[in-house]
Amino acid sequence: AELLRDPGLSNTERSNYLDILSRNGESLSIIINDILDLSKVEAGHLSLEYTDIYPKHISEDVISLLRVKAKEKDLALEFKCEVSDDDSIVADGNRVRQILLNIVGNAIKFTRFGTVKLHLYQTKSKLGQNTLCFEVADTGIGIPHSQRDNIFDMFVQADGTMTRRFGGTGLGLALSKKLTLNMGGDVSILKTKENIGTTFLIEILDQPAKKASQST
Ligand code: ADP
Repeated sequence: AELLRDPGLSNTERSNYLDILSRNGESLSIIINDILDLSKVEAGHLSLEYTDIYPKHISEDVISLLRVKAKEKDLALEFKCEVSDDDSIVADGNRVRQILLNIVGNAIKFTRFGTVKLHLYQTKSKLGQNTLCFEVADTGIGIPHSQRDNIFDMFVQADGTMTRRFGGTGLGLALSKKLTLNMGGDVSILKTKENIGTTFLIEILDQPAKKASQST
């Protein structure tokens, strides 16, 4: 913003500085929102809005939002869907979208070539509750064995050069984990192998009883 004050700038320079300014503004607002969300969860003040959500629609939204990013990196972005248009569960749709954007976004970020696949299906939990499963599989850099357990902790990135190479803060997975746990589900690593790829599993429980109360 300071550099933009220079009256002698060419149009190209001005437009470059504006691009940088707006990109960084966006990243800052993502970081601030993640920190605010994490603080809310930690303080026990996260309020969830339980409504009927349509997982197929949400997934399609997320895929179309991230398609540009995948295309920029020449990655295939696939969606395998085993639920129908009007299958619904009771959960917080905005939070489910946020978690998916994060995990599928990471899959794209940490994959140099190949495919990112989102697979959506339903199953039953041990207690018989309807459960949505989103498997996110990539052909990316993988997560070292030693990091598998703490990768969901705040500010943890698999190695110190990550921020430089890929950007990010190490908050996304911590937040996704806390949000899903709050909704009675979970995010876990199904499998990962260095330089072969990673598959994350997001489980979201159907909570019809929560629909009326509208909060946790
Ligand atoms: P960020 O992406 O901002 O670094 P996250 O909390 O979303 O933070 O992820 C934490 C770390 O987990 C990442 O820095 C990366 O090391 C690792 N990671 C997450 N998703 C993947 C993935 N799909 N493939 C490989 N590593 C991953």
